[in-house]
Amino acid sequence: MSDIRIINCHIHLFTGKHIPEDYPYWFLRPLKRMPWLIRLLAGLMCLIGQHPAAEKLDRLHRFQKESQAGSQKAILDNVRRHYPDNTRFVVLPMDLSAFGYGRPEVSLARQHDELAELTRDPDIGKAVIPFATIDPRADPQATELWRAVNQLGFKGVKIYPRLGFAPDDPRLMSHVYPKMEAHGLPLMTHCSRGGVQGRELSDHRADRFTEPQAYLSIMRAHPRLRICLAHFGGQKDWAAYVNPDQENPLADEYTRNWQVQIRRMIGSGNYPGLWTDISYTLFHFEDYVPFLRLFLMGDEPEDERLRKRVLFGSDFYMTRQEELSEKAVCFRLRNALGEEVFRQIAEENPARWLGET
Ligand SMILES: [Zn+2]
Repeated sequence: MSDIRIINCHIHLFTGKHIPEDYPYWFLRPLKRMPWLIRLLAGLMCLIGQHPAAEKLDRLHRFQKESQAGSQKAILDNVRRHYPDNTRFVVLPMDLSAFGYGRPEVSLARQHDELAELTRDPDIGKAVIPFATIDPRADPQATELWRAVNQLGFKGVKIYPRLGFAPDDPRLMSHVYPKMEAHGLPLMTHCSRGGVQGRELSDHRADRFTEPQAYLSIMRAHPRLRICLAHFGGQKDWAAYVNPDQENPLADEYTRNWQVQIRRMIGSGNYPGLWTDISYTLFHFEDYVPFLRLFLMGDEPEDERLRKRVLFGSDFYMTRQEELSEKAVCFRLRNALGEEVFRQIAEENPARWLGET
């Protein structure tokens, strides 16, 4: 095998202690405390011949078990087993203190601190590229964010507007993006109709905060800011793209498909700061990889632009809910795209997005 040094641009190490107890439903508390209950249910389903349900519960169990791991380091050890030793990982924390479910047991500042400690680990510290996160409702002056960047040495910023704020929230526009652009720090943001969502937020509003168009004003104001729209538009939009039979007339993903929007925006060359990653979405590998391959292999100038803006990422440990393992997807992807394109999205592009070259 050739010597590609992979950068996985999108993983999570936060644990159950960083998630409010009542999320997503208070009545799931016992399941979170006793993950073996899910196991038991899976066993019962298997006994009565409900194998698909049993398998889904089994995967939910794998996911729960991961989030209950005692530390960020324990989760990192688990993901590193799937990759070559010299792989590096962009680690994205979450601030779940202000989206309507109460406070998590451990604060964001301690989550940042623990992640910073991991980067000082003599054995695995080099594998970690730490990002800081912000919910402007919890940190309106971005004090904690800049503490993480300036004092702890974090390398970029992650936001999650679906929690209930616009990406061009005035607090972010004044205290975050100008400085990021000046210091060349990359921005990662969740761009999928799925995922975590603010408690009081309708799907419609959450989608307005999440869609690619929501970044136009930021890109106009900060053309040199490198913004990665994670998940390449997300599962729902890929599913709608792959099968255009629209069953629900209100399903927005058929008429305003985010995957198509992202490709057009990047392909146009008008938004040089725009990037995307393939995390989570490509875990439905067989369905989507033929399309990704075509998008990345074209000869036109817009294909060339897209090829330079797609990042490899996985979304571990969210992917514990999927059938294929991290390692299985990584190898299939490398096989399907070929060494040259795989190297581009897993090594060259991430290094440029991070500002290392
Ligand atoms: Zn993620």
